[in-house]
Amino acid sequence: MYFLDDDDKPRDECGVFGVFGHPYAAELTYLGLYALQHRGQESAGIVVSDGREILSQHGMGLVVNVFENGDIENLKGHIAIGHNRYSTAGSSSLENAQPIVRWHKSEPIALAHNGNLVNAPRIRNDLETQGSIFTCSSDTEVIVHLIAHSPQPTIEEKVIDALSEVRGAYSLLVMNKDTLIAVRDAHGIRPLWLGILDDAYVLASETCAFDVIDAKYIREVEPGEMVIITPKGLHSVRLTSIFHPKAFCIFEFIYLARADSMVFGELVNRPRREFGRQLAREHPADVDIVISVPDSANIAAKGYSEESGISFDFGLNRNQYVGRTFICPSQRMRERMAKVKLNPIRDVLEGKRVVIVDDSIMRGTNCRRLVKMLKAGGAQEVHFRVSSPPNKFPCFYGIDTPTRQELIASTHAIEEIRKHIRADSLGYLSIEGMLSCVKNPQNFCTACFDGEYPVEFSGQSSQQQLSIEFTRGRNRG
Ligand code: SF4
Ligand code: MG
Repeated sequence: MYFLDDDDKPRDECGVFGVFGHPYAAELTYLGLYALQHRGQESAGIVVSDGREILSQHGMGLVVNVFENGDIENLKGHIAIGHNRYSTAGSSSLENAQPIVRWHKSEPIALAHNGNLVNAPRIRNDLETQGSIFTCSSDTEVIVHLIAHSPQPTIEEKVIDALSEVRGAYSLLVMNKDTLIAVRDAHGIRPLWLGILDDAYVLASETCAFDVIDAKYIREVEPGEMVIITPKGLHSVRLTSIFHPKAFCIFEFIYLARADSMVFGELVNRPRREFGRQLAREHPADVDIVISVPDSANIAAKGYSEESGISFDFGLNRNQYVGRTFICPSQRMRERMAKVKLNPIRDVLEGKRVVIVDDSIMRGTNCRRLVKMLKAGGAQEVHFRVSSPPNKFPCFYGIDTPTRQELIASTHAIEEIRKHIRADSLGYLSIEGMLSCVKNPQNFCTACFDGEYPVEFSGQSSQQQLSIEFTRGRNRG
């Protein structure tokens, strides 16, 4: 078996969904996870409580494959949390599937986490030295152990205790038999929304998960806020009084979140389209048509077309049945498998000078394949445009990006990249240009472009951390 990755993309992070106070909590969670499927395709899970006992089901693959006939009906209860985990070939394992469920003093507790804790390896090492036994490689398990170690009497206080130890990105849902807690790290790196459906509260990474169940948006869980929902109602506490600058992940706008979702206070569609418009101002091209790498760059390409006045067309057909990572039965089939996913539309391309817009370039291998494919499909010239700045640094906050050595923009100048992918020209959006497209640019993390990491790593400078990156396994989101 060979895995062919969409290796010019950061791999997905994770999606979380929660319900409190609805008789069909598992059904709603199933639908919510379905809407959040783009955030992770490796595994899915739902945990439900009826106030007396907790039931759970997890599995590898897509939501639709994990839950079969009757499964959801069997998950009876009015409180539920669910999780979609990101997709990568090597580390697929059911132990890492979330929500994590553990028992402490005969009481069950479940956690669903989107993000990555930068000091998890150190805490884990300390806990293991003290005798803790870990059962999976996920950083999230560290939080469960810290909760169990807390001397505090209530679940709410135990979670506060545990989170005072961890650093990094977390949009986290925690539940026990009768409480649901939602919490977002003080920088607000990953999104998390609060909504309402009838008398029930709902929580989700993105609002597209509310739309499928007709829930109303209330607001985002604030950076550094913990929302606690019990049979008595909802209340909210601040995790810390220390000021932390906001660091919303700008990649949510570039690529990760769905265009019809609200994230960080606005509909993703607007900034994503603005990135394309700004790209057209920064890197115009004398061409006949603008096309996109479907589907993730469609909106940026539309923005490029609107701003430049050059018509947009569909130059590549995408096979909707091919996921982000797919399995090739043999090495010989690898190249052909790329064509199973995308195929040029000759009618559109024949004799044309083309701008192709993509949302990001990681290793550059896919772009090279694309340019070749477009020329073979009849394009006379191929001008590559990228609706984000050069990706020079890895992410440590829950996106699985390649290592620094593997990131082509980290080791090559733009002109070298252009030659490598054999494009007639190449233009990336500038960091300033990107930030000019979002509201409150000072609130965003841009570390994968400029190396300015908003959260310090445990006792190491970011440069030291970069040099040992991934020796302890890739970031999980
Ligand atoms: Fe997002 Fe990049 Fe910051 Fe990671 S480093 S949180 S991908 S902006
Ligand atoms: Mg995705």
